[in-house]
Amino acid sequence: MADKLSNIIQKRTEESKKTYTFKEDHNPRLPADYWFQTSPEGPVLFLVFFTQACRWAKCLGCNLPSRVSLTHIGFKDIMKQTNFVFMNLLSKRQKVKLGKIILSNNGSVLDEETLSTTALLYFISQMNIHCPHIKVLTIESRAEYVDLAELETIHRAIKEGDTPTDLEIAIGFEAFDECIRNEHFKKGLTLDVVENLADMISRYQFRLKTYFMLKPVPGLSEEDAIDDIKEGIHYLDSIAEKYNIKINMHLNPTFAANGTPLAEAFKAGTFTPPLLTSVKEAIRASRGTRISVFAGLNDEGLAVPGGSFIRPGDEALIDLLEEFNRTQDYSLLE
Ligand code: SF4
Repeated sequence: MADKLSNIIQKRTEESKKTYTFKEDHNPRLPADYWFQTSPEGPVLFLVFFTQACRWAKCLGCNLPSRVSLTHIGFKDIMKQTNFVFMNLLSKRQKVKLGKIILSNNGSVLDEETLSTTALLYFISQMNIHCPHIKVLTIESRAEYVDLAELETIHRAIKEGDTPTDLEIAIGFEAFDECIRNEHFKKGLTLDVVENLADMISRYQFRLKTYFMLKPVPGLSEEDAIDDIKEGIHYLDSIAEKYNIKINMHLNPTFAANGTPLAEAFKAGTFTPPLLTSVKEAIRASRGTRISVFAGLNDEGLAVPGGSFIRPGDEALIDLLEEFNRTQDYSLLE
């Protein structure tokens, strides 16, 4: 049934010229998606809760909301998704081995209008019970939904686990250049908001993760795209120093996401996904800085045909970047 927020989301989606639909046939008691990764902290579970979609909805190349619901999903159903994870999805061995969990809802986990706080705390309580070796819990959110009261509550909850757990707040930054980020990509993120977040999380010594996109808009050359990431690394390095926090850049090469204006630009020939060699070059700029970088190499099946950044012959480079992700060994990138 349509609610006030779903009307807002629908309107913004249309105004942003997105043509995708939402996933209303999904069982709301099951997560939207999940997969496993490796990281320096050990095996990682990436979990995407099935909730109401992102209410910002405007970002140019994003069709993540198409994988979740237009209408509200209540806390009881979301808690059942958590039960599925700990009772059906993870084996006893996986639960013991997991070193990191990344929580997403293809929007903002800390937007309590779309993901209930009760359900989030329930997930953390189950994580504390079942997974004794979680070193990092990552929570994805737009920066404006992060507040001190929530950070304090989560801080107390994760402290109760058997292992000291760091909280990492992950925000979409997308591009460093203000004009690319906010005028073209429609991110709606200012550096003031980023600094305010850095200030809040520094009080708890939490970590910050920033998602950047390599070549996020049409009309950028490979060189311009790489330069934007280099400037982003330089900026984040200064923030890491100023607030004395750990910062990771998660660098996603952009793909032409189905049902977005970027897919139209791809079809019209004005947007070409970046080369993986550019990913390698951009990452090299973080050597010797306070910033760690993780290359995102998964388009989650959301690209239009031919619109992915992975091309025939890229296999060796993907292996190399995956090894870099695991080891952070810069000599691999020479
Ligand atoms: S990138 Fe994030 S904030 Fe922007 S529309 Fe997509 S889910 Fe929402």
